Amino acid sequence: MKPQRLCILGSTGSIGCSTLDVVSRHADTLQVHALTAHSRMEQLAQQAMSSGARVVAVPDDAARQRFLAAWPAQRPAPEIRVGAQALEACAADPDVDTVMAAIVGAAGLPSALAAARAGKRVLLANKEALVAAGSLFMAAVRQNGAELLPIDSEHNAIFQCLPHAGATLSSAMPARGVRRLLLTASGGPFRTVDIASLEGVTPEQACAHPNWSMGRKISVDSATMLNKGLEVIEAHWLFSMPPEQIQVVIHPQSMIHSMVEYEDGSILAQLGQPDMRTPIAYGLGFPDRIESGVGPLDLAMIGRLDFEPPDFRRFPCLKLSFQALEAGQEACIVLNAANEIAVEHFLNNRIPFTGIARVIEECLDRMSGSAARSPDSLEAVLELDASARQHAQQLCQ
Ligand code: NAD
Ligand code: MG
Repeated sequence: MKPQRLCILGSTGSIGCSTLDVVSRHADTLQVHALTAHSRMEQLAQQAMSSGARVVAVPDDAARQRFLAAWPAQRPAPEIRVGAQALEACAADPDVDTVMAAIVGAAGLPSALAAARAGKRVLLANKEALVAAGSLFMAAVRQNGAELLPIDSEHNAIFQCLPHAGATLSSAMPARGVRRLLLTASGGPFRTVDIASLEGVTPEQACAHPNWSMGRKISVDSATMLNKGLEVIEAHWLFSMPPEQIQVVIHPQSMIHSMVEYEDGSILAQLGQPDMRTPIAYGLGFPDRIESGVGPLDLAMIGRLDFEPPDFRRFPCLKLSFQALEAGQEACIVLNAANEIAVEHFLNNRIPFTGIARVIEECLDRMSGSAARSPDSLEAVLELDASARQHAQQLCQ
């Protein structure tokens, strides 16, 4: 059998590195064709060398120079593509079968969409793409025969608990007889601290997730629980589920990655270590199960699994996400863009942790119904995204 040829968008990130780790265990069936990164060119060069990538994409000419400086002179360098369009070219490359979309933020939308439009198998980690452009993205999957597999652990778990009979995700979901999707959330590092102390928490405290090791942006999103809000919106698009049939449950141990509740009263859950290599391996091997490097879960050692409802006073961002989903596409674009800006300012110590929710709320209030046209194209989505960012920037000053 011909090996599956991969493009990893955002290979130097947390998901990108975990993907390469799984790929390295299956040299006979998985082959890296293209890697892309926005920074850390030395790491990208290392990855390209060890994976044998034929193509890399970098943001600009300075990055290209840094990449070449890190590349051994005696070895032929891979083809280097430069600029934002290079991401889309890599995603749609005829020599690529499967695209791992693991860029962080709405910056990953054009390339994820390009992969869907090119009819690739798309392993989607980049949830912001669905939040900003869910209907556009799902339509591209449908119209171009792309094969979509969710990588976000919750959505991967839900997909595993749905009767998909070996087929990838299509808009034909939801499956019949599903009552609710139950998205589990750890509650992050601030689940039990005094709410009044949240104003003063530092970026380091916010990024210290109790169970998962992730990039800094998603770590802050987990601390505000905006991440879970983005995941509710993501689940809505992936599984065609109305918001009232998606419930968030706090489960501090992060062993159950999510659940599906059926009409007959059954609940199916997917369990495993909190290690992204499991959902990544599920996506890479689908429909087969392949070795991921993740050890088994020792249930007797764990002893107990706990659950509690989320507290909207502690996590206002979760509430704002449900409101944005109810309000529609424009509000979801604003929610996501405002959050990206606010998180960046928080990470640079320019606004307090609690300022993130305030910036998002303010942007949602001021920008509702502000789009000149409904965001039905990539250009229109990016236009509204840009103006929401500008607005959030002003609020953060
Ligand atoms: P990360 O910050 O660790 O890595 C991001 C990657 O994207 C890097 O390779 C970086 O170079 C690249 N990148 C950043 N900005 C870019 C830009 N403007 N243009 C092109 N490339 C850019 O992020 P991560 O934690 O790996 O998360 C990646 C995506 O996966 C996010 O959407 C996140 O929500 C999602 N996700 C991550 C996890 C996790 O465990 N880390 C779990 C579920 C979902
Ligand atoms: Mg998740």
